[in-house]
Amino acid sequence: MKVCKFGGTSVASADQIKKIAQIVMTDSSRKIIVVSAPGKRFNEDEKVTDLLIRLAETALLERDIENDLQVIVKRYQQIADGLGLNQEIIAIIEQDLRRRVTKNMQDPILFTDCIKASGEDNNAKLIATYFSHIGIQASYVCPKDAGLLVTDRPERVRALPKGDKELSELRQKPGVIVFPGFFGYTEDGTLRTFNRGGSDITGSLLAAATNAELYENFTDVDSVFAANPKVVANPIAITKMTYREMRELAYAGFSVFHDEALMPAFLKSIPVCIKNTNNPSAPGTKIVKERDHSSQPVIGIAAESGFSTLFVDKYLMNQEIGFGRRLLQILEEEEIPFEHTPSGIDNLSVIIKSQFLTLEKEQRIILRAEKELHPDHVHMHSNYSMIVLVGEGMRHTTGLAARAATAIARTGASIQMINQGSSEVSLVFGVLKEDETKILQELYKEFFTNVPAYG
Ligand code: ASP
Repeated sequence: MKVCKFGGTSVASADQIKKIAQIVMTDSSRKIIVVSAPGKRFNEDEKVTDLLIRLAETALLERDIENDLQVIVKRYQQIADGLGLNQEIIAIIEQDLRRRVTKNMQDPILFTDCIKASGEDNNAKLIATYFSHIGIQASYVCPKDAGLLVTDRPERVRALPKGDKELSELRQKPGVIVFPGFFGYTEDGTLRTFNRGGSDITGSLLAAATNAELYENFTDVDSVFAANPKVVANPIAITKMTYREMRELAYAGFSVFHDEALMPAFLKSIPVCIKNTNNPSAPGTKIVKERDHSSQPVIGIAAESGFSTLFVDKYLMNQEIGFGRRLLQILEEEEIPFEHTPSGIDNLSVIIKSQFLTLEKEQRIILRAEKELHPDHVHMHSNYSMIVLVGEGMRHTTGLAARAATAIARTGASIQMINQGSSEVSLVFGVLKEDETKILQELYKEFFTNVPAYG
C-alpha cells in the first residue's frame, strides 16, 4: 500500500488532475492520495493558498470580501468545468468558504488557519468527486474524522503520535482515499495548519501511521538535483539519498521537500520517492535509510541566504562557566531560535535566521549581552549565506574540507565561518551573500563535474 502526495502544481488545473487519475489507475497499491491546494499554473499565477490568505486579511479588516471570494471560487469552477463535473461541487465549495469567513475572528491566527486550510480541503472534495465521476472507487476523508491530531502551539504545529492508531485504520477503508494535506485538529477540535508547504508533512504522517510500503511525493521535477538548477546549469540528478541527506538539503533551501516532513517516514523507515506528475515513468529520487556512498561522498550542495551572525568576543571566555548558556538565554527570552554556534576559545558566534530579528530585538540583544556578559566586543552582522555541502560519505573521506576550501579560494571570496556538525553529514560555510552564487558554482564544479549520475 502506497501513500501518494500531489503538490500544488500537480493539482493546479483540470489537466493536471487528469494526470493524477491516470497515475492512481495504473497502480492499485496507490491507496491514500494526499492533495495540496491548487498551486501556480504559470509563473505569474497565484496559489490558492495565497488567495485564501488575502481573503482572510480582507475579512479581518472588515472590508467587503466578495471579490476575493469570487476569485477563489472561479479557480475551482475552471477546474470543475475542465473535469466535466456539474455545479454541485462548486456550490459545496462556495458555501464552505462563506461559512468559514463568518467564523469567530477573535483569534486572527485561528481564523486565518481555518480559511487557509480550505484550499486543500475543498480540493480534496473536488478530486474525490472527479475520481468517482470517472469510475474510481474513491472517497474524501476529513482529517478530523481520521484522527489527525496536532499540538496547540500556533507557531509550531506538530502531529501528536496519539492519533496514529486511529489513522492506521485508513488502511482498512475500501477504495481510494483522498485526503487534504496541510492541517489537522487539536485535541479540543480546533483546526491548525502546518507551516507553508506542509502537505508533505501530512503525506509522511499518513505513510508512517498506516505503515505504507512507500511514500510517493509527486511534484513537477523528475528528481532532486545535486544543486539548484537556477544557479548551476544542468546539475546531475540524485537517484538515491538518505533521510539525513535530504533533511540537510531541505533545511538549506532545497524546496522540493518540506524539511519537517521526513521525520515520521524516517522513524518508521518508510522509503520516500520524489516523482514527477508530468513524467511519472521517470524513476525519481528515492530517500532511504542507507546508500552506498563509496563512489560519491557528497550528494548535493545547497545555499540559503538570510542569515545574521551575533559575534561575541571575550578574553578567557573558555574559563567562564555558563557564558554560552547566558548568551543563548538572551536569545531564548527574545524567542529567537539559533542555527549554528561556531566557537573559539575567546569568541562565540551565533548564527540566526534574519527573519526572526527586528531592529529593536537586535538592539536589545546587544545591550543585554554588553550588560550581562561584559564582552570585549559584541556585534551583529546580517546578509550572510550558508553554503552546505551534504553527503553521508564525508565522514569517511579525508581531504574533503580542504578541497571545498580550495574551491572557494579560487573564487576570491573569503569564508566567514566553517561548521562541521558532529554527525559529519554536512559541512557548512558561512559566506557573504554577494559571493553565494560563484561559490556554489565552483563547489559544484569541484565535486560533480565528470561524475556519473549516482545514488
Ligand atoms: N497549500 C499550502 C501552501 O501553499 C500547503 C502545501 O501546498 O503543501 O503552502
